[in-house]
Order: sequence, then structure tokens, then C-alpha cells
Amino acid sequence: SSQLSSSTIQETINQAYEKFKPVMDGENASYIPYLKKADGKLYGISIVTVDGRVFKAGDAEYKFPIESISKVFTLSQVLYKSGAESVLHKIGVNATGLPFNSVLAIELNQDKISGSLPPGNPLVNAGAIATASLVAGQTLDAKWQSIIDTASSFAGHTLHINNDVYRSEMDSNQHNQAIAMLLQSYGHLYANPTETVDLYTRECSYDVDAVDLATMGGTLANGGTNPRTHTVVVDPATSARVLAVMATAGLYNTSGEWLFKVGLPGKSGVGGGILAVVPGKFSIGVYSSRLDNAGNSVRGQQAVQFISEALKVNIFSSE
Ligand code: GLU
Repeated sequence: SSQLSSSTIQETINQAYEKFKPVMDGENASYIPYLKKADGKLYGISIVTVDGRVFKAGDAEYKFPIESISKVFTLSQVLYKSGAESVLHKIGVNATGLPFNSVLAIELNQDKISGSLPPGNPLVNAGAIATASLVAGQTLDAKWQSIIDTASSFAGHTLHINNDVYRSEMDSNQHNQAIAMLLQSYGHLYANPTETVDLYTRECSYDVDAVDLATMGGTLANGGTNPRTHTVVVDPATSARVLAVMATAGLYNTSGEWLFKVGLPGKSGVGGGILAVVPGKFSIGVYSSRLDNAGNSVRGQQAVQFISEALKVNIFSSE
């Protein structure tokens, strides 16, 4: 925040970097061939403040696939364009408490008496695929262009799809295809399922680094205006709602534990990225590919928890 001096922020992320650098717990995601071969030693941290200051430690400029963190920005775009009512009724915003790619989450949400309920939450696969199906555009390529343009505005420069990741996932995404088909059968997919899974897979496959994540999160911390380029990407009401959804389901089935320990809205991806937002102050982006059982970066979580405590930014704290 503006009260935090640049030297305090830089020292804190240096400490978070040194402290957890030796940790080699966890495993790379193995169900996507490309991610399995990531270099588990790489570790980078960045903070971007709402007044546009940028801090880095370690491999903060190493590019990796954004994966699930993209769900935050596609949700931002759909929420901004279609409105809160549409997201509430067509997707839903409750925590699922289930793994990221759960099919059960869709099944359990079916109300057998009054009809089917929406897929649950835009930050887990089912809800994210439903969200992707609400992106406006005449063709798949036009929809994709709008997703990558929005993400690029959040980051402050042009982001690019990683074609190796995209191809690797297109060859191994049968589970997501099943989710899309199931959603369609319940009337909760709003575009063609094959095309929507392709769009969703593209959105998971663009590359970012820790500085990009912190800038994208910094835009949400700043009410939707990029703190470095000053571009208005979404409005403050949209930002607040996106952060609320991050608090419900940003770290898959361990979202409650995360909020309990860290006290910040966050979002992780199986590519090893993690993003946390301190509303009105700054955002933290971390990269480290080794994941816990829920799919969250081990060192990413450790680093953010350390920074949240050191800078005293738990949003539930009165101190
Ligand atoms: N592309 C991945 C999938 O849909 C993203 C999962 C994630 O990061 O949670 O399986």
C-alpha cells in the first residue's frame, strides 16, 4: 500500500524467497504431459501495488502456463459485460468444496424437484467452462481474441498462447469434454460444447510470469484499473465481486483452509502459479510448479502466507 515503503516490501519478498527456496515438497501436475516436465527448482515472487510499484524476487520473469488462474479474468469479463444476475443464475457462486475438475459438483447441484441448478462456481472447471460459454463473439476465434485481449489489458501487455501447452491439453482433456457434455444435458452450457472446451483449453494455455500475475491481481486490487498502464479494464463493482468469488473457491477444495490461514482472496493454477489480492493495496504473484494434493503450488502458498503475516494484510484482521 502507499503506507508500505518500497524497502519494506522488497525486504519481505526477499525473505519469503530465501525462506522457502529449499522446499521441494509436492509434485508437478502429472495429468497434463507438458506440465509434468516443468523445472521444480524455479521459484519467483512479485508484488504490484495500486500506485504502480513493481517488486520482484527470484524467477519472477519466468513464463509458465496460467491454467486455472485465467478463470478469474474470464469471469471478470463475463461479469462486467453480462452482469451479476446472469452470473448468479447461469453459473452460481457457491463454494463446491470439491476437487477442481469434479463431475460430482454438477450432479450434486441438481435439484430433483424444481429442476437443475447451475454448475456452481466460475473458478472450478464446470463453472469455468459454463463461463467460457457465455463469452460473446460470432466465432470461436473471435471469442478467444476477446479473452486474450482482456487478459492482456489486465497484465498491461500482450499475452500469448503457449501452443505446446494447448496441444498437450487438447490431447488429454477428455475429462473437461465430459463436464461440458454433462452441463449441456442439464441446460447449463450456453454455447456448443466442443467449441467451448476448445476455448476453455486456450484460456488455460496462455503464458504469464509472476510479474504478470501480480499486475493482473493489482488491477483487481485497484478496482479494475491497471495500476501500471491506467487502462480501465473492469469497474470497481465487478472487481469486488470477482474477489468475493476468489474467496469462495480460489484454492479448490482447500479454499477454506487458505482463507483461514492467509486471509486474502487468492487463485491458484495447476501450472504452479498463485495470485493473492489485498484490496485497495497490492497483489502478490508467485510461481513454483510443485503442487499439493489439491493442486495448489506448495511454495506459492507458503510465500503468500509469509507475506500476508509480515505485512499484516489479512483482510479479516482488525489490527
Ligand atoms: N487446464 C486445466 C484443466 O482444466 C486447468 C486446471 C487448473 O489449473 O485447475 O484441467
